[in-house]
Amino acid sequence: MTIEQISSFAAGQWIAPGSGARTIHSAITGAPFASAGNEALDVQAMLDHARNVGGPALRALGFHDRARMLKALAAHLGAHKQALYDLSFSTGATQSDHLIDIDGGIGTLFVFASKGRREMPDGQVYVDGDVEQLSRNGTFLGQHICTPLHGVAVHINAFNFPVWGMLEKLAPTILAGVPAIVKPATNSCYVTELAVKLMLDSGILPEGALQLVTGGLGDMLDRLTCQDVVSFTGSADTALKLRRNPHILENSVRFVAEQDSLNASILGPDAGPGTPEFDLFVKEVQREMTAKAGQKCTAIRRIIAPENTVPAVIEALSARLAKTTIGDPRLESTRMGALVSLDQKRDVLAKAALIGQEAERVFGDPENFAVEGADRDAGAFLPPMLFHCADPDRATHVHDTEAFGPVSTVMGYRDLEHAIALANRGEGSLVASVITHDPTVAREVALGAGAFHGRLYFNNRDSMKESTGHGSPLPHMVHGGPGRAGGGEEMGGVRGVMHYMQRTAIQGSPDILSAIADVWVPEAQEIKAEAHPFTRRFHDLSIGETIHTDPRTVSLEDIEHFAEFTGDTFYAHTDEDAAKRNPFFPGRVAHGYLLLSFAAGLFVEPNEGPVLANTGLDNLRFMKPVSAGDAIKVRLTVKKKTRRNDEYGEVRWHVTLTNQDDEKVAEYELLTMNAY
Ligand code: NAP
Repeated sequence: MTIEQISSFAAGQWIAPGSGARTIHSAITGAPFASAGNEALDVQAMLDHARNVGGPALRALGFHDRARMLKALAAHLGAHKQALYDLSFSTGATQSDHLIDIDGGIGTLFVFASKGRREMPDGQVYVDGDVEQLSRNGTFLGQHICTPLHGVAVHINAFNFPVWGMLEKLAPTILAGVPAIVKPATNSCYVTELAVKLMLDSGILPEGALQLVTGGLGDMLDRLTCQDVVSFTGSADTALKLRRNPHILENSVRFVAEQDSLNASILGPDAGPGTPEFDLFVKEVQREMTAKAGQKCTAIRRIIAPENTVPAVIEALSARLAKTTIGDPRLESTRMGALVSLDQKRDVLAKAALIGQEAERVFGDPENFAVEGADRDAGAFLPPMLFHCADPDRATHVHDTEAFGPVSTVMGYRDLEHAIALANRGEGSLVASVITHDPTVAREVALGAGAFHGRLYFNNRDSMKESTGHGSPLPHMVHGGPGRAGGGEEMGGVRGVMHYMQRTAIQGSPDILSAIADVWVPEAQEIKAEAHPFTRRFHDLSIGETIHTDPRTVSLEDIEHFAEFTGDTFYAHTDEDAAKRNPFFPGRVAHGYLLLSFAAGLFVEPNEGPVLANTGLDNLRFMKPVSAGDAIKVRLTVKKKTRRNDEYGEVRWHVTLTNQDDEKVAEYELLTMNAY
């Protein structure tokens, strides 16, 4: 049998395994088939390459450029995913496991690409929050901005998701503008290697943006600086070892950890046998126990059900688990493949034995189960194993021992408070689910257990058809958890990008703030528009470009006409005495919407031109009432521009309405789509 050489990609070169290489075995046959690792890897050269070549190239681009690269990478990987599927079977994963790992990873890239374009600016500075008024007259302001770190992100990943595990970290890193060195777990690094090869061959990423270490990292972590980030996924033991590296502590190197988790699923007190929720609960638990042979950080390890339903839960779950065909993952009939390695199988059995000291095994016998299409004992196969813990209050192992395989424990609860206490005994988890149709149960759990879990997943008959599953971390939502789960947070949309950026508080005059953030700040200098801004194309408009309109006097007839025409005859506009009794109005006043309409009438340029559509307005405030006889005028300023595609972009206009005494009567941000 030929042994595949799984290479690293370092400073622009593929480096084959060398001294210190480790042998990788097939999960299905146990036979050696690949080798990875090379002690001679020049880790300093890799760091230099990332910092001096990859970083500057990425930082020269804007968020939208980088988002477009992510989208192109996703499409490229999508076009080659069959090759990834084919290789990935050797990790023991089935075709449905590939959908989580490979398609899930590609989907994550797509979501970050889209979020980058929609939620981040078309520039290099990300503005976090509003301008803070730090002085009475507004000549000195504050603003938080985020800029990319100048170092490198070292991603250390667990074996279970060789593609998704890499891409869920890579997407926010690249979007931030930071180069990455990816170190997958050795057991499944051949799949990651292929995905990296595909991405590099596509030529989409700039030189130095992505490097790969298969095998050990050498002393790379001892060479990191305050501009670098370690993002780790794996066991709590390894996390502890790495995060207490004195060099990492001394240099305050950012360390994001995702580690073990004793995730729980609670069956609501309302969801007894016969309800749709009961069936849903059993289905979700079975799926989480068997997907990826239970090697999922989010898998359900503790099944918490009302005491009187425990026998029914065990019976229904056992019946479903009995239908799980175990075998060669390449067979279509296989529902559960192998664990990643024989070592992993031994580890799971050892952990299951610990759990067995406190709980009775009620389903699954590791000595007696059938495997289709493969040698049961040569490959890393195990059956799903269900335990029942009769005294979960006194037990400890069931709450702190993560058997990273198809192993889960049922335990009963007396009341909801008890269920919450049991769920929290995990001392911090990635996800807890609650299957209930009762919103009061959901609220009680959210308040009682929220602080212990990174994600709470509620499901019932109303949401089950569209729900995404207890165990699926989504790129939009935060993935991570407190305590045992590592205390880290990943993804969560743009939040995840911030791990690779520095937030800096900026203080200065409005002009200074506007120039840094490329967003016009009220009171910053205006640029006098050369022509009506509605006649100018997207790329010709400058931030700060402003027009001031002529005034328009609002008459009583206008107010009455508007009231009658729209049907808005609210007393403040129609009844002088009633309006006067209202503490906010001096008497009858103009409708706020009348003022908005007049404002549009004042600033609009009527002819066909580059403004394609008005797509909405944000942050509208009416600040002072306008009475008949008052004259309003408008200041319209380009606040921010966001390119959407090659044809058009969004312009955010700052609009201020003032009266004859220059007092602000209304303020808002208007959004238009303008031709490029
Ligand atoms: P692991 O043994 O802790 O390994 C994790 C990673 O750390 C691997 O890439 C490993 O590389 C690397 N590593 C180990 N020692 C190292 C060292 N001294 N220096 C640098 N890197 C080192 O965990 P695993 O067995 O791969 O994964 C299973 C565990 O991961 C489970 O506990 C599971 O709960 C957890 N997990 C958590 C999440 C989450 O999101 N929270 C997701 C998936 C898995 P080698 O393979 O080369 O040793």
